[in-house]
Amino acid sequence: MFYLTEEFFSIQGEGKYAGVPSYFLRTGECNLSCPGFGAKYIVDGIEKDGCDTYFAVDKGFKRAWKKIDDAESFTKHLKEKFDEIGYLPHIVITGGEPLLYHRDDTLYAIVDNLVNFGLDITFETNGTIEIDFEDYPAYRETIFALSIKLTNSGEEGSKRIKPKAIANIVNHSKDSFFKFTIDSKLVNSTAIDEISDITSPHKGSTIYCMPVGESRDTIWRNDKSVFEFCMKYGFFYSDRLHIRVFDTTQGV
Ligand code: SF4
Repeated sequence: MFYLTEEFFSIQGEGKYAGVPSYFLRTGECNLSCPGFGAKYIVDGIEKDGCDTYFAVDKGFKRAWKKIDDAESFTKHLKEKFDEIGYLPHIVITGGEPLLYHRDDTLYAIVDNLVNFGLDITFETNGTIEIDFEDYPAYRETIFALSIKLTNSGEEGSKRIKPKAIANIVNHSKDSFFKFTIDSKLVNSTAIDEISDITSPHKGSTIYCMPVGESRDTIWRNDKSVFEFCMKYGFFYSDRLHIRVFDTTQGV
């Protein structure tokens, strides 16, 4: 059984597959909370700080999450959605932290089914969880967007950086790439050292940097400095198309 917070058809807005029509499955719960990303929200009358997907992270929202415990009926449901779409979209499994459920029978059976249908699947992960590729081989056929958190997330280094988990994904998956979320303050301080420390063992990997921002306003405050940072160090710039187009609207 895993928790699904939302599912929707949209265009991938970030990273290597930006612009690709994609069907999103967003799982509930995360092993980090990233209070440094500056999204303010209120749950159960308490004001908190979190990331742009706080509604899939904070268990205060759990009553709105859906339990998925039947892989076959959920796969059938997805096939119906694809029939409505008219073609097989890219699948994005995001969160929260979706790999919290990587050993879950239901999630694994769904991923296995989708791999067998020939779909491209990207997991958007914070890269802190070591996947068992031996016992769960379908994950070898999936793609991983490694969104490793930096100091601007407000999380402790030992919690957000797990070199063994990162290496395991880079070495065993069909494809992976790094995606860092940075702001102008980090650009002008430790961003390059932090990114180099994380990525130096993985020389061939592609590195994307994108501006912090849960809204158009915050993206506009950070995009130029991230753009110039990418030019300076040879990283790929990633925008956040869905926020540019839809601002803070969820489910797009
Ligand atoms: S790891 Fe990602 S989903 Fe989890 S709290 Fe941090 S930014 Fe949000």
